[in-house]
Amino acid sequence: MYYNLKTVIVFFISTMVWISNFSQADMESSGSKINVLIIDGQNNHVQWPKISYMLKKEMEKTGLFNVDVERSAYTWNGEEFLEKYNIEGIPETEALEKPKEDPNYSPDFKAYDVVICNFGWNAAPWPEKTKEHFEKYMVNGGGLVVFHAADNSFPKWEAYNQMIGLGGWGDRTEKDGPYVYYNEAGEEVRDSAPGSAGSHGPQHEYQIQVRETDHPITKGMPKIWMHTQDELYDRLRGPAKHMKILATAYSDSEKKGTGRHEPALMVIDYGKGRVFHNIMGHADYSIECVGFLTSMLRGIEWAATGKVTQEIPKNFPTAQKSSSWQFDE
Ligand code: ZN
Repeated sequence: MYYNLKTVIVFFISTMVWISNFSQADMESSGSKINVLIIDGQNNHVQWPKISYMLKKEMEKTGLFNVDVERSAYTWNGEEFLEKYNIEGIPETEALEKPKEDPNYSPDFKAYDVVICNFGWNAAPWPEKTKEHFEKYMVNGGGLVVFHAADNSFPKWEAYNQMIGLGGWGDRTEKDGPYVYYNEAGEEVRDSAPGSAGSHGPQHEYQIQVRETDHPITKGMPKIWMHTQDELYDRLRGPAKHMKILATAYSDSEKKGTGRHEPALMVIDYGKGRVFHNIMGHADYSIECVGFLTSMLRGIEWAATGKVTQEIPKNFPTAQKSSSWQFDE
């Protein structure tokens, strides 16, 4: 076969252009970062806008995550924090006197690898269509991270209760599932006794005891580590199906607790979806615990990908001493 020089050159140049376009497109397809969506807007904890802001900043610092926030019409609760911790690019939403359904709330869940729920006890139910989209997203292999008051949200939404495994408050009772905790012998107990769900004593520093040392989220953590000041949720109950407790916290009766080892970190399978549930995170000083942040960042990565690539930091808390990072405002 015979090619003249011009044909060869044209062919060569177009091939180079094609290759360079290809590699550029390949790099632009997110540079393989994990796409994260924080959802918030209605939370009984006034610092919720600051906490979304802190989590977004800390995730971005790792270089692993792209983070968006989708805010529903919000309650009066937290307004001063909304102004100070304004996240650019979030469309302004309506300020409500009382939490009520935001008929326009409809995040595009399927565009994300993982969703972080920063709603709280007072969150109004979502529109039916939004709930359906979220359930479908999770069944098909989505990721969900719930922390602290997000396990109080949506008590009447059956699928949400399945996803979070255990919940508290909001008229949850024995109808929703057993209490789940560890006994002194280190066995998991499922207790169907009647009663309400969710309580906590005064805030204090407390130890987290790792029960699953081989799970990607907890692997390499000290077996016991001291958390900074926080509420220790106890008496959580729920369906607890396909749920594994990764770590517990002893709820001391001297601190108005249950005298049980309460679930602190959990993972739940929901369809093909993965859920990470962390009971900690009441206030900014709880978020500033190195142990909390490490477990969150690892939990978020795991819920998105099923793997964890992040190391345990050197300043991780020990059994006797908590450790805080300083949030750079
Ligand atoms: Zn709280």
